[in-house]
Amino acid sequence: DKQSSLKLIERLESDAHNPKNSHGDPLAEDSLFEVVMPGGGGVGEADAADRLEDAAQSGLSGQAGVEPSLEYELTRRRIQTNIVEIWSYFSSELGKIRKLIGPGNAELDESIKQVLLQGAEHKRSLFSDMDQLRRVDGYEAWRHKESQDLSDLVQRRLHHLQNPSDCTNARKLVCKLNKGCGYGCQLHHVVYCFIVAYATERTLILRSRGWRYHKGGWDEVFRPVSDSCQDPGISYAYNWPGKPNTQVLVLPIIDSLMPRPPYLPLAVPEDLAPRLKRLHGDPIVWWVGQFLKYLLRPQSATRDFLNSSMRKLGWERPIVGVHVRRTDKVGTEAAFHGIEEYMTHVEDYYRTMEVNGSSVVRRIFLASDDARVIEEARKSYPQYQIVGDPEVARMAAVSTRYTDTALNGIILDIHLLSMSDYLVCTFSSQVCRVAYEIMQTMHPDAAYRFKSLDDIYYYGGQNPHNRRAVIAHKPRTHEDLQLKVGDLVSVAGNHWDGNSKGKNTRTNQGGLFPSFKVVDKVETAKLPIYEGV
Ligand code: GDP
Repeated sequence: DKQSSLKLIERLESDAHNPKNSHGDPLAEDSLFEVVMPGGGGVGEADAADRLEDAAQSGLSGQAGVEPSLEYELTRRRIQTNIVEIWSYFSSELGKIRKLIGPGNAELDESIKQVLLQGAEHKRSLFSDMDQLRRVDGYEAWRHKESQDLSDLVQRRLHHLQNPSDCTNARKLVCKLNKGCGYGCQLHHVVYCFIVAYATERTLILRSRGWRYHKGGWDEVFRPVSDSCQDPGISYAYNWPGKPNTQVLVLPIIDSLMPRPPYLPLAVPEDLAPRLKRLHGDPIVWWVGQFLKYLLRPQSATRDFLNSSMRKLGWERPIVGVHVRRTDKVGTEAAFHGIEEYMTHVEDYYRTMEVNGSSVVRRIFLASDDARVIEEARKSYPQYQIVGDPEVARMAAVSTRYTDTALNGIILDIHLLSMSDYLVCTFSSQVCRVAYEIMQTMHPDAAYRFKSLDDIYYYGGQNPHNRRAVIAHKPRTHEDLQLKVGDLVSVAGNHWDGNSKGKNTRTNQGGLFPSFKVVDKVETAKLPIYEGV
């Protein structure tokens, strides 16, 4: 047991030594969470909400009317984030010292190993305590209710926007599902269109005939984005930005959008921001998740397919979702990561669950675009129940990716990743980011339920991701940033060794700084408030 603990720690250390490229956000961490939703459940619009309600009524601490303060919630989440950071820092620094010592001093090396072993156990215990704190602090019922109320509100607004009383004269935004990229990237394209539609109070018209994943179009797979208004109606339409009185506007992809409006991600609506900041660890992910919740309401054939696949696969929880992106991504947009790197974090998750002596069945859901990954994992990890279908992975190869069978496969994989209790993946992949976004619709706050091996969360085409310094920082080396309290730092990524990288917007200087010295700045934009809806 000690041997495997040690391997685990060595792997964590070496991860910390290989800083990954990044775009945004040191919220990532391994953490413990109880299974909030009983059972695995089906799919669809009412489903997650029903389960939230079940949870709210099943003896959660507190009464929905007893509310935490914003400061309390921010502090609780900050501690959680910084447990990750302090452990990343010490394990990485001790790892460096071990390398310096070399094989010459076995005794000292052994002492450091022991410190790392106990440190790791201590960290897991702290996570467990934070989880317990959340469960018993008396606010859990409020969190569930608030999350459901907010989601209901946004879903009502989207239904209202998409079903205008007078379709002929309604203002519309045309979005084409022809972006030349994968499914996750295309979903993000549609979400971006939908955000612009929401912000400009235009009904979204989704043009999807000839979609590369399904020639018959979106509506044969998911419910149409509108029940009553699916036609632009007039034969002419203007390109973005049009004029205020333009009735039908066509939107380009986010990469070529000019001028860029202020409400693009990472902004959340100003009218919801105070509630979101209190409820959620990463409001933009919640916000994006709400659009996906509306968009991905399955047609009955899709729903049946998902339910029968889950039965066939033997879906059970707790389960950790692991996404291993290979084929065309490796060496072009992301680095290669061996399966053992993912499994180190899976193991750490389960050990945290077991910190008080209980024992938990080791189970993962493994999705990949390379079938060999699933076969390799089954061979190397016999102690794990590995749920996954190598046939689905085989169809995800570049040559067969854009077929109906492959579309079913990716819909299923993303669905099951999002239903997992925790995600281990690379956020450089839109597949995992989409799963993480959908995951937010199933829990009051699932911001901490992931470990990314590379990037922090980002939204392709986003505006700068800013963090505010709350503790001053004096540079330790020439690589470091100087920070004054109140400085805004545009964050590029987390090195997972206690440090993040970014640019101080006051001094225009770029460099490293200790991640715990900043807090996320939640960007907001003034948007329509859909009064009366
Ligand atoms: P990214 O390229 O990883 O950022 O994500 P995209 O979704 O834009 O494109 C990757 C595409 O590869 C997906 O949409 C799928 O078609 C396929 N793919 C990648 N990973 C998986 C996987 O785990 N399962 C399945 N079924 N397909 C995958």
